[in-house]
Order: sequence, then C-alpha cells, then structure tokens
Amino acid sequence: MQRDNELFDLIDAEKERQLNGLELIASENFVSEQVLEAAGSVLTNKYAEGYPGKRYYGGCDVVDEVENLAIDRLKELFNAEYANVQPHSGSQANTAVFHACMKPGDKFLGFDLSHGGHLTHGSPVNFSGKLYNPVFYGVDKETGLIDYDEVQKIAEKEQPKMIIAGASAYSREIDYKRFREIADSVGAILFADIAHPAGLIAKGLLSDPIPHCHIVSSTTHKTLRGPRGGIIMMGKDFDNPFGETLKNGSPKKMSMLLNSGVFPGNQGGPLEHIIAAKAVAFGEALTDEFLHYTVQVKKNAKRMAEAFMKKDYQVISGGTDNHMMLIDLRNKDISGKEAEEALGKADITVNKNMVPFDDKSPFVTSGIRIGTPAVTTRGLKEADMDTIVDLIDRVITNYQDDEKLEAVRQDVINLMQGRPLFQM
Ligand code: PLP
Repeated sequence: MQRDNELFDLIDAEKERQLNGLELIASENFVSEQVLEAAGSVLTNKYAEGYPGKRYYGGCDVVDEVENLAIDRLKELFNAEYANVQPHSGSQANTAVFHACMKPGDKFLGFDLSHGGHLTHGSPVNFSGKLYNPVFYGVDKETGLIDYDEVQKIAEKEQPKMIIAGASAYSREIDYKRFREIADSVGAILFADIAHPAGLIAKGLLSDPIPHCHIVSSTTHKTLRGPRGGIIMMGKDFDNPFGETLKNGSPKKMSMLLNSGVFPGNQGGPLEHIIAAKAVAFGEALTDEFLHYTVQVKKNAKRMAEAFMKKDYQVISGGTDNHMMLIDLRNKDISGKEAEEALGKADITVNKNMVPFDDKSPFVTSGIRIGTPAVTTRGLKEADMDTIVDLIDRVITNYQDDEKLEAVRQDVINLMQGRPLFQM
C-alpha cells in the first residue's frame, strides 16, 4: 500500500503548529513518546467487548493483561477500590454514570455551565439536559466561589437524586467533604467529575474526592497527561441504593451497575490501544517526576494569575489553586471571541469562555480560560509565565493591529524554539 502522504502531511503540519505555538488551552497537554507508541500500537486491531476474564471474543489473553495493568495502576494512583478504564472519553464516562444512577426524567444538581460546569452536567444541548432533569448551583457574584450554603438550600428545595461536583472552568479548591454532607442530608449520590484537576489530585496537590464521593469520573488527557479518554472510580464499592437486585435477590454492587453502564449500556468494544496508553500514563503519573511536573503546573498557574492581576486583568475569584484561571475581559474592551482570534494570529492558543453572570452569548463570551499543563510539559517555568502574560497583553491591547500581532508571533516562535513537545 502506498503511504498516504495527503494525510501524513497534515499530521506533520499539526506537529509544526504544536511545536511553534504557545498552548494555553487548560484542557490540553502533550503526551510522552511511550504514550504515543502504545496509542499507535497493534492493539487497535483487537475486539474485546466485555471485561478482563469475561469477554465476548476469543484471543483476549493479552489485552486482558493490558487492561488489568491499567486498572491496577489507576487504583494505586488514586487509592481507589474500583476502576473502569474503558470509557472512550470524559463524556462517555459521565454518560455511563448517569446510566448507572439515574432513570430518564430523574432530577440531579449540577454546576451551571456558564459558571464553570461542563456540558455533561445538565446543559440543554447535551444528553444530560435532554434525558434528565437538571437543576443548577453556581458561584457567588462577589467572590466567584461556590457558595456551599446556597448549594445546601437548592439541594433541600429540589431533592435531587444525584449531585455533581466538578468543573471545566473553576480555578479553586472544591470542598468534597461539604458536598458529601449536603448529599447525605438529602439522600443523593455524590458524583465528582475531576476531568480537569485529576493529575494534581493524584499527587496530593488538591483535596481528594475519593474518600468523600460515591463515584468519581475523569478524563485522562488533561492534567493526567495520558491519551484522550475517560475513567470511572470508586474509593469503596457499595450496594446500590436503587433497589437493583441479582437473581438471588441480593443487591447489585454499584461496580456492577457502573460496568454495565459503560458496556453494554453506552459503548461496544473498548479501545485497547488507548487503554494501553492509559496504562503507560498512569505508570508515569505514579513517579516522582510526575509529582515535580504537577508542582510546577501549579506554581506556573499561580505566577501567571498574579502577573495578569498586576496588569489589571480580572481573574475570576482573584487567583487560582489549580492549573487554570478564568479571565473576565470586560474591563479591557474586547470579547472572548475577539481575544481568542487575535491570540490565534500570534500562535497563542486559548479558548473563549463564558464568565459567571456573563451578558454575552456562548459564541462571543466575555472571557478566556487559560491553563498551564501544556506549557509546563514543554519545560516553561515561573519567569516564562511573566513573559507569556506580556505577550498576551500585547495582543489584547493591539488586537486589531496585524503587524503588532505578527511581531508577537515571532516572539512566541523564539520562546518555544528548541523545546520538544514533551520535556518535563
Ligand atoms: N467533564 C469535564 C469537567 C470536562 O472539562 C470535560 C472536557 O472538557 C469532560 C467532562 C468531557 O471530556 P471529553 O471531551 O473527553 O468528552
């Protein structure tokens, strides 16, 4: 077969883009060579519906070992009794949790998308908002922080069956213990979605949801720095509280409901090549090198937020505890959309983002979201964060001046020159 140059030229072009640019999208990262190698391996050829030891296909001995390795490493990483590594993505993981815990029409309480939540936490354009009945909590207008007393009040009024703690654009610690007290007071399942901060949580740099939440899901490709994918975990397995029983009348364990929520509830054959790449990433995340990496991610984010505030940028909640920050650009007379586009011209990639109590549409927005996981993987340190903020500020203040944007682009190329994608 002839090599498909048409396609591989595109991959080369994307690699160049990644090498030359400044990647500040909070949900992106660069994987190691060995994660890439596993993701591009012959395991992609194998069908393996079911779970290790209980497959619907022959020839699964090796992939059983691969999947068990991924499960064992993940359990060790988060000190979890149960792990499912099959979800194809974070959204698929969350879909499976809904399958396991909710019936269509059931009510749940999630974090408002425009305040930092995720589509799968009840957005009307997502399955979670179409099939189920979402109610929302948000952040306090003054502090930009989750108001737990308010969450308690909403929970008492609405009596949800499930509460979701977790976010796509919230830069602060989440108090899972308090969330559990709220959930217990109304008899709800507490489900934490740690897609964003998972890597920092794994290394003990943020509070741990595992001891407090019934169920925890995550993506594997953000701060966890693995291949694109999802996972589900529980600190402790437990009898499901929904009255689901085995043939002998005893209650089904929650792990059974979650496993069948993933397969056959929501997916067919697992992606064993990606599960292998997850296993590699979990192995990397267990090392001290990864601890140093996550410490640096956090230091970089803190320094960047401070540098922005020195230049009179409004960082929501006045700073960050994790790997990201949300910036309200309304005092800079530029929308999130305009900022994203102008920064793109200078090869600086961010995403526009709604800010709490935004008066612009999700297509325009008043803010941008910025994260440090990817630039930290490329080896950038605190002093580089000051440089990055200077570059961004030059773009924002000159966003209609293409010549000045081109000058910033050259500075970005110089800053990133000689830095491989995966360095730290
Ligand atoms: N949950 C949260 C909190 C997220 O931020 C994301 C992705 O941004 C997801 C779930 C979904 O992940 P995926 O894009 O892999 O479906």
